[in-house]
Amino acid sequence: MRKMSGKRIFLASPHMSEEGYEKEYIEDAFQKNFIAPLGENVNAFEKELAQKVGAQDAAALSAGTAAIHMGLLALGIGKGDIVFCQSLTFSATANPIRYVGAEPVFIDSEKETWNMSPDALKKAFEKYEKLGKLPKAVIVVHLYGIAANLDAILSVCGRYHVPVLEDAAESLGTVYRGEMTNGHFKYTGTFGNIGIYSFNGNKIITTSGGGMLVCNGKDAQAVSAAVQKVRFWSTQAREQAKHYQHEEIGYNYRMSNIVAGIGRGQLKVLDERIAKKREIFDCYCKNLGSLKGVQMMPHDVHSRDNCWLSVMLLSDDAPVTPHDVMEALEKENIESRPLWKPMHLQPVFADCDFIGEKDGNMLEKKDFSVIDQNTGADNSVSGILFKQGVCLPSDTKNTTQDMERICGIIKTLWE
Ligand SMILES: *Cc1c(COP(=O)(O)O)cnc(C)c1O
Repeated sequence: MRKMSGKRIFLASPHMSEEGYEKEYIEDAFQKNFIAPLGENVNAFEKELAQKVGAQDAAALSAGTAAIHMGLLALGIGKGDIVFCQSLTFSATANPIRYVGAEPVFIDSEKETWNMSPDALKKAFEKYEKLGKLPKAVIVVHLYGIAANLDAILSVCGRYHVPVLEDAAESLGTVYRGEMTNGHFKYTGTFGNIGIYSFNGNKIITTSGGGMLVCNGKDAQAVSAAVQKVRFWSTQAREQAKHYQHEEIGYNYRMSNIVAGIGRGQLKVLDERIAKKREIFDCYCKNLGSLKGVQMMPHDVHSRDNCWLSVMLLSDDAPVTPHDVMEALEKENIESRPLWKPMHLQPVFADCDFIGEKDGNMLEKKDFSVIDQNTGADNSVSGILFKQGVCLPSDTKNTTQDMERICGIIKTLWE
């Protein structure tokens, strides 16, 4: 038997408030017997989250994945439509494209933000414009809490009048290039036409499972109509009639009143969690940042990333591989992971197009070659990030001693 030292340290696990806010809201729902389906916690959670991020309106749903699905429907995406989607992400970003019968085209990352490359996006637009098949939407992701290059991406999409769906599942609380000193915060998730957040167990705040769709636009009436429509679809599309009348396909995607109670409590400690996540990232930068071949994840000094997970890259100059780091940590009962495997490398999306970057050139899928036989990583920007990356334990319950221990184990590998 392998020696297990003490409690397991997780990548990220649920962290309820020390004050017990979540329990108070749940208790209130029990007392009023507002267990399900809806109730005041759901309404209040929508309002409170919208207020926190500065969104015009919000709909609380059963998962972030459900929110992406509803977002695509709200944008009118259907059978045969093209959707441009960031390749480096979790599969939940891309699966809903298939739910609505549309066709994903995957877009590579840029080195600067690890998120969607505006140059590859431009190239994809040019290619699909020539084919006479412009996309109906673009899905951009803020991975690990790092804000994507929204200025450039929104400008390209604006030129083609194509709406943007922001997958901010991992970046709740990330401020993008705001004038933070003036209090002009603008949060990721509120730049696109639709934004989504996730409250899954590993995210920066959790409801045990849940998601939120937010909507923004110049026409306030259209925004509130769109969100109202999402609430309607996600409660089985029941028309206003005593008898059960259905004119559209419905879904059972609404958040329960108990779950929303947990969310209201968690929202109160979001800023605290962000502060702790950023402290964890700083600690890794200080301890590991100057090791040979190590590069910590990027951060834009004009933005404030929530640092949901701390991630490092190991170049070929490093004396150890990502696998060595993960194995050394696992021996000590500490969790770590590779980066998300890009969607264009996933067997389930093997037939989809990909526009990527290699040595500064924007190329087609056929121009990339596999550089790692084990994982199937290729030499695109996202492929190389995937090959070189390690997600480090970033649990907000980690103590200073935990952090010293983790850094110590990793540093030993360089000695
Ligand atoms: C977690 C996650 C989702 C899905 O959210 P769920 O609430 O788990 O359905 C979508 N996209 C990204 C990038 C995620 O990390």
